[in-house]
Amino acid sequence: MTAESVPIAMSDPVTVLNEVYGYPSFRGSQADIIDAAVAGRDCLVLMPTGGGKSLCYQIPSLVRPGVGLVVSPLIALMKDQVAALKQLGIAAAYLNSTLDAAEQRLVLEQLHQGELKLLYVAPERLLKPGTLDRLSQLEIALIAIDEAHCVSQWGHDFRPDYLSLNQLAERFPGVPRMALTATADGPTREEMVQRLALHQPASFISPFDRPNIRYSVQPKSDGRRQLSRFLEGHRNESGIVYCLSRKSVDATARWLNTHGFNALPYHAGLSTSERNSNQERFLREDDLVIVATIAFGMGIDKPDVRFVAHLDLPRSIEAYYQETGRAGRDGEPADAWMIYGLQDVVRLRLMLEESDAGEAKKRVERAKLDALLGWCEVTDCRRRSLLAYFDDDYPGDCGNCDTCLSPPKQWDATVAAQKLLSCIYRTGQRFGAVHVIDVLRGSENTKVQQNGHHRLSTYGIGKELAAGQWRSVVRQLIVQGFIRVDPERYNALALTPDSRALLRGETQVTLRQDTVPESRAPSRRKTSTSARQQGPLWEALRDCRRRLAEQSGVPPYVVFHDATLSAMAEHRPVTAEELLEISGVGQKKLERYGEVFMDVIRQHVQASAPDPDRTV
Ligand code: ADP
Ligand code: ZN
Repeated sequence: MTAESVPIAMSDPVTVLNEVYGYPSFRGSQADIIDAAVAGRDCLVLMPTGGGKSLCYQIPSLVRPGVGLVVSPLIALMKDQVAALKQLGIAAAYLNSTLDAAEQRLVLEQLHQGELKLLYVAPERLLKPGTLDRLSQLEIALIAIDEAHCVSQWGHDFRPDYLSLNQLAERFPGVPRMALTATADGPTREEMVQRLALHQPASFISPFDRPNIRYSVQPKSDGRRQLSRFLEGHRNESGIVYCLSRKSVDATARWLNTHGFNALPYHAGLSTSERNSNQERFLREDDLVIVATIAFGMGIDKPDVRFVAHLDLPRSIEAYYQETGRAGRDGEPADAWMIYGLQDVVRLRLMLEESDAGEAKKRVERAKLDALLGWCEVTDCRRRSLLAYFDDDYPGDCGNCDTCLSPPKQWDATVAAQKLLSCIYRTGQRFGAVHVIDVLRGSENTKVQQNGHHRLSTYGIGKELAAGQWRSVVRQLIVQGFIRVDPERYNALALTPDSRALLRGETQVTLRQDTVPESRAPSRRKTSTSARQQGPLWEALRDCRRRLAEQSGVPPYVVFHDATLSAMAEHRPVTAEELLEISGVGQKKLERYGEVFMDVIRQHVQASAPDPDRTV
């Protein structure tokens, strides 16, 4: 836990950005936020995951005199955050319950000696009278309150300790405080300002979009085969696969292992030690797939998660956005991929109706589910409608979602819908989708015979569509409110007030043509990044990074991020000057790792010469 001195004159933010972090320029509103904090203003910062919040408080802490305090509830992450700072040559430490007495003493000593530039601290630890007394004797550069939405008593992540953070205003007058979060609606923003007693804060609200995440949703046909096709585009990469049940988590993880993927399960049924060890491995390894229930994810700050796959629908768009937000924090291309089908729609509707929540709550939940299902079926830019749900305008089409990349065909399904609805009606609104479709397609099975349904006028009138196509029609009509699933009658399909208008020919329906499962989803990128992240040099650089990370006991991304490695693979720097040009290579990392990586590149260049790409 030794602190290392900061080698560079920490005069201005841009110099720090270039020389310490090795980044060429600020992103989004980072520069303005940093200027406000350096000038001593309180700040409210809302930025999506991966937007680059850490620099917003780290750089002012380095530039201002004194130590920067970072309050965070995510104790598990502090160790790696501090390790990453030390790699940059920044004197940093953390104080939380995972340190033993001797380690704590050492940190406090460094603090009093003025040797630290950044101190991460858990709120409960900070609020101890002893800690506050100590800290108020020192020069404090800035106080950052991360995950600031935890003050909201109405939110999912409420932490009672956060309410007491308002006393920091009085204890540290004149010290700028910065509240940061990735998730906060209007009322929660107000709450953060009030409860943390921020003084006329400068507000920075960034757009919610995650441009590097590619969204795609496919109708579910054969879940495993679809997953394995999707994963072919992500061999040897880190990712998360979400399933609803523990059983399917275990089965999917086993299945992935037999298909050559490095996969581990994670759910509440595993022992604590097994869960911790699987999570730890996920953080440390750069090619591990974790298969998990939603129990996994809070506090996962791994930047190089290349995909998040949902084999089952999450419970709302909010949950979906949070879960998929764990992909691509490093800004490199990442996939959010989901499959869903008629079964999911029926199951979620039933779960909702059968829950013992009050009617008011059910109404809210129903609206959320409708929004999610409706979003799954959209035919125009998926990103735009996702952001619209959060009241964020996205102009035009994004070009990086499934509906933009291969626009779904639509068809006038009015006649098909009428056939389906009348068949539901004629069979007495007592049967599920399978039977209704059998009747429509003129099946001769016993259930049809026994019920005398082969004598109905709707028997066999739907042979023009395959069973799978009918399921797609049923699913979409449920989502659009033309069919209801009746929980009192074992999932029977039933008519709704809207369906009568459709039957009378007063309404038209347009449906999405489900893509045939055989056609490949646009998961493999054709962008330059994918080209860079392939091939022997990329693999050699990754091996080198893995080796160095193991030696230093840090996760690979702490050595260099994927983006930095890709840039090396593309530009093949072989001198210190060239290497410093690469984003993510600062002074310290050049000293520490420069030669090793340049050796790998030199060997590669020699081995592959003559290389037409590099001839002058
Ligand atoms: P957040 O906390 O908002 O989720 P981070 O602070 O972890 O995001 O930043 C996400 C990633 O982006 C990190 O890998 C970080 O090093 C990188 N990053 C942040 N700012 C810049 C920048 N100006 N230029 C290049 N990379 C950046
Ligand atoms: Zn789009």
